[in-house]
Amino acid sequence: MCTSDDRLCEAGGVRVRAAIALLAVATTVAAGCTDTPPHATGPSASPTVTTTTPTATPAGADSPATPAPSSTPSWRVGARALPLRPDGYGEMLPTPPELVERSLPTEDLLPPPRDGRYAATVDPVPAEVLRRSTWQPDCPVAAGDLRYLTMSFWGFDGRAHTGEMLVNASAAEAVTGIFGRLFAARFPLEEMRVTRADELDAAPTGDGNNTTAFVCRPIRGKSNWSAHAHGLAIDVNPFCNPYRSGDVVLPELASAYLDRSRVRPGMLLAGGPAVSAFRSAGWTWGGTWSDPVDTMHFSATGQ
Ligand SMILES: [Zn+2]
Repeated sequence: MCTSDDRLCEAGGVRVRAAIALLAVATTVAAGCTDTPPHATGPSASPTVTTTTPTATPAGADSPATPAPSSTPSWRVGARALPLRPDGYGEMLPTPPELVERSLPTEDLLPPPRDGRYAATVDPVPAEVLRRSTWQPDCPVAAGDLRYLTMSFWGFDGRAHTGEMLVNASAAEAVTGIFGRLFAARFPLEEMRVTRADELDAAPTGDGNNTTAFVCRPIRGKSNWSAHAHGLAIDVNPFCNPYRSGDVVLPELASAYLDRSRVRPGMLLAGGPAVSAFRSAGWTWGGTWSDPVDTMHFSATGQ
């Protein structure tokens, strides 16, 4: 839930270019390294690959990807830090006009799927991924109990991409199935990558839209861990599906998406394909809560 990861809500907003550079460097370094996490415990899982043929796109999908002409992005995510409030959040400023109907292209961090078919992989977490993640030895889940997923998704640019995600091993197969259903429905995602450690303490920019699962952090103001810290919660398109509690809206610039009756691509809606996919797998949706309303949030734990 985003009370537990308010930084996560804007985490996708930081420095995509830096992420690419980091990924490139990390990949180079990892080429000569073992893929065994340095602190892995528990049984090591054999890598598995799942490939699913997508079904036809339902014409009634509530928020399908809309192909957009390729052009220079109208907004550079993470470029401007917000003024800070005393509570540590950024100032909740009006949504910039460029983001009111958000449809930013996706930069490929991994090779896109071939043939436009859904593909997913489940592996132990490679050492280079663990290093750039928020995992550390005090986290409530052992590195060996996390899995590194890659999964196809449709961008807002109408193109197929490959994303990455860390989840609890117990949820790995369910999550690849859920995202297979999102792919079949052409439900668009802007970004899907592992949250980095430096994002937890970065100045909020309020414009992130990264779909992510594992983030090792406690619930804000409490001592217990978030479901994200167990790899058992996923936030989907946070900007299109903001969190709200009182006067707090996260990401801070996403207030234009509080009006859920104004349906735009990437929004999670009751009865829509994405919410249905998670619910079919037994996951709880924070969009049905009353306070906070955590529209981006799905959890395998009910929290
Ligand atoms: Zn969440």
